[in-house]
Amino acid sequence: MVKQKKRILTGDRPTGKLHLGHYVGSMKNRVALQDSYDCYFIIADLHTLTTKPEKQYVDQLDENIYNVVLDYLAVGIDPDKSVIFLQSAIPEEYELTLIFGDLVSLPRLSRLPSIKDMARAANINDEIVPFGLIGYPVLQAADILLPRAHLVPVGKDNEAHVEITREIARRFNRLYEKEVFPLPEVMIGEVPTLIGTDGQAKMSKSLGNAILLSDDKKTVEQRVRSMYTDPNRVRADIPGRVDGNPVFIYHDAFNPDVDEVNDLKERYRTGNVGDVEVKRKLSRAINRFLEPIRERRAAFASKPGMVEEILIEGTRRMQAEAEETMGRVYEAMGMSGPRLRKVIQGRAESFRLLGGR
Ligand code: ATP
Ligand code: MG
Repeated sequence: MVKQKKRILTGDRPTGKLHLGHYVGSMKNRVALQDSYDCYFIIADLHTLTTKPEKQYVDQLDENIYNVVLDYLAVGIDPDKSVIFLQSAIPEEYELTLIFGDLVSLPRLSRLPSIKDMARAANINDEIVPFGLIGYPVLQAADILLPRAHLVPVGKDNEAHVEITREIARRFNRLYEKEVFPLPEVMIGEVPTLIGTDGQAKMSKSLGNAILLSDDKKTVEQRVRSMYTDPNRVRADIPGRVDGNPVFIYHDAFNPDVDEVNDLKERYRTGNVGDVEVKRKLSRAINRFLEPIRERRAAFASKPGMVEEILIEGTRRMQAEAEETMGRVYEAMGMSGPRLRKVIQGRAESFRLLGGR
């Protein structure tokens, strides 16, 4: 018998095109693991509504979904191996979120720094924080546990959410005395949180401090030129700080020429290199890294209907998994509603309340 592969779930909110932070935080692991795991990659449009429910943002979802799928394909996610699906197309997402909402406390969710950060980034203060934003990790638990995933490759900001998912899974299994869900493990990327080009906050789609995977050569050069470095170093002959300096964090992450990077660091520390040279070599390295990604992106973009086809097929595959999982959930809980629903839909003959199990 063929041993079943373990499963991965992870994904992104369709709030814009993906950037270098997504790559080092999560996508690199996805590409590397897609042969050894069954992978489910979610485009989490319902999560976008937690901070951006306004019509003007909803109107942008389609374009963003299209771009995120293209970004996936561009970095090497293979739709023949991995499932790429759209969250809002799966009714079971909504169902499981409601059930999970009863298995975690409000104070536990309210204390999470990640939710506070998201609220702050979206200009939402405590007085008006939506129920859905507090429930962000509950919806995420539904994402992860619907395909009964074992592993979740994400950036550091999502680590606490995977912990909540484990708590919910454990609570469910215990309450209903059945091992319906695995306890998923988190896998943090090689760079847990990539800092933005502003040197102030994590690189984020919403903060304007990102280098996009789809940026062209000139844009990369320009973004790198305006990058934050050591602010105390007003001249090239002043010794500079390498640790925590965004240009060197990026060199470490994207420049495979270790000798060049070490030489630059050494000369920076001793005041023997200008920012211009450090940045010129950095944009060259990033552009080399992005070149094949751009080429693949363009190749997929030139085939009309391709993105939609991939999304239809992936969502179809996820839908089957979601139904399987919810069957197990309701069975373990012994709820009658789902049996009643089957009768109404003509998929079962009879419905009895007492003793109907
Ligand atoms: P938004 O600003 O819309 O929240 P985002 O850039 O924070 O966008 P998300 O969709 O929230 O992106 O995150 C998707 C995945 O990418 C998550 O696993 C997250 O941890 C990871 N990620 C996002 N930004 C970074 C970053 N700067 N460094 C490392 N990982 C990141
Ligand atoms: Mg985010």
